[in-house]
Amino acid sequence: MAERYDLIVIGAGPGGYVAAIRAAQLGMKVACVEKRATLGGVCLNIGCIPSKALLDSSELYHLAAHRFAKHGIKVDGLGLDLKAMHARKDTVVKELTDGVRFLFRKNKITTLFGVARVASPTSVVVKDAEGAEANLETAHILLATGSVPINLPFLPFDGRTVVGSTEALAFDEVPEHLLVVGGGYIGLELGSVWRRLGAKVTVVEFLPRIVPLADLEVGALLSKALIKQGLEFKMETKVTGARVADGRATVTAETKDGQALTFDSDKVLVSVGRKAYIEGLGLEAVGVKFDPRTNKVGTDSHFRTNVPTISAIGDLIDGPMLAHKAEDEGTAFAELLSGKAGHVNYETIPSVIYTWPEMASVGLTEEQVQEKGVEYKVGKFPFVANGRAKAMDEVEGIVKVIADSRTDRVLGVHIIGPRASDLIAEAVTTMEFAGSAEDIARTCHAHPTLSEAFREAALDVDSRAIHSAPRAKATGR
Ligand SMILES: Cc1cc2nc3c(=O)[nH]c(=O)nc-3n(C[C@H](O)[C@H](O)[C@H](O)COP(=O)(O)OP(=O)(O)OC[C@H]3O[C@@H](n4cnc5c(N)ncnc54)[C@H](O)[C@@H]3O)c2cc1C
Repeated sequence: MAERYDLIVIGAGPGGYVAAIRAAQLGMKVACVEKRATLGGVCLNIGCIPSKALLDSSELYHLAAHRFAKHGIKVDGLGLDLKAMHARKDTVVKELTDGVRFLFRKNKITTLFGVARVASPTSVVVKDAEGAEANLETAHILLATGSVPINLPFLPFDGRTVVGSTEALAFDEVPEHLLVVGGGYIGLELGSVWRRLGAKVTVVEFLPRIVPLADLEVGALLSKALIKQGLEFKMETKVTGARVADGRATVTAETKDGQALTFDSDKVLVSVGRKAYIEGLGLEAVGVKFDPRTNKVGTDSHFRTNVPTISAIGDLIDGPMLAHKAEDEGTAFAELLSGKAGHVNYETIPSVIYTWPEMASVGLTEEQVQEKGVEYKVGKFPFVANGRAKAMDEVEGIVKVIADSRTDRVLGVHIIGPRASDLIAEAVTTMEFAGSAEDIARTCHAHPTLSEAFREAALDVDSRAIHSAPRAKATGR
């Protein structure tokens, strides 16, 4: 007789593995099926973690080459050992993916390596690498199969010259000229890595601005910072085709005003977005419906699809394609399934771009606040006036706090600057607790820390920042 579970999770990415662990903690008998040889999904294997490992390594290289001298540190014979850099990245990935395996064992979760197919609303067939099939019975199925990069038909991936992010995380040589198609966070992060290591990097973007969903002012500062680092941008430019031969690509493009452009490069990274991954899952046969609005698996507020025993989370469903969003949905799903009050607050999901300076945001942008017609006040503080940033010699960027004029409630926080990725957590907590700019202003912040810039920006909402000169206030409706 087939083994019977309370829950079978398909996909061991941050959504799936967190859901599996939380469900096991809550007493369910859980199996998780993963088609990759390691756990952790895109995030741990070919996404968040290896990209951050390379960003950190390449940043150190860049600092050693260009900034250490200012700190009085002399470096002779600086060189790049790309093999060692990749080996460190691979070790980080292995330790973290092994860590998920360990957690599965400790939580008594059955791990099945193979490709899963939903055979019925309560059964899953798993095909292993040798082609052997196992049939598993379950009360509930959770789809957490994530996403894959979008392919441009006129610029198809060939895995060597025209590549997606996975290959761009593993180039065995620094490209001479990396052409990045798409000015989203993945293209900017990987473009930064290879620029710091010596490549010429050109970013071609169809829209008039990079990171189009970001606060306009803060996004413009990021653009300026990256240009200063030597990245080149061709905005409002549409890639129209490519000829690939002998390890080089000749990519053709057209500007908004009809000017034809040609780029000759040895690597092209196509990073124009990702799409829900459902290949081979058998969803049509069991009748799970896609949401035509999002082109992702449709779910209700409890993550249930139209088939009551089948649920879905993470990149596969609506919302930002981010690991922490998938994780929070995994936890909420398991808690709801066991009758608890699981919940994800989509208003306070932070987003981070791990370039240097980093950019991090939560809540509404100034443009969104204006669209909503809310009366608001803005407080800003530059890192150049922050003692710790000065000590670090990392003074580029600002903190921007947007608060409701009438209630003082924080509506959005946008940071570009050193360790913005860590600083944003305080803003998320403030917003989660429906806090005001005054709440931040009255909270003691250790000195000297970068977090003082957040407090000063909150003080500036009411024109009383201590460490910056008074300035004309931006308020609006
Ligand atoms: C280069 C890059 C950098 C990124 N950086 C960040 C970042 O810094 N921060 C951030 O928040 N997000 C980042 N992301 C996005 C993040 O990786 C995803 O949002 C996250 O992994 C989604 O989690 P998930 O659990 O929904 O799916 P995934 O992580 O995609 O996991 C899905 C898993 O399901 C498995 N699977 C699919 N089909 C089947 C099947 N039929 N049977 C068995 N298994 C199956 C897949 O093999 C995969 O392991 C990055 C992505 C990329 C590509």
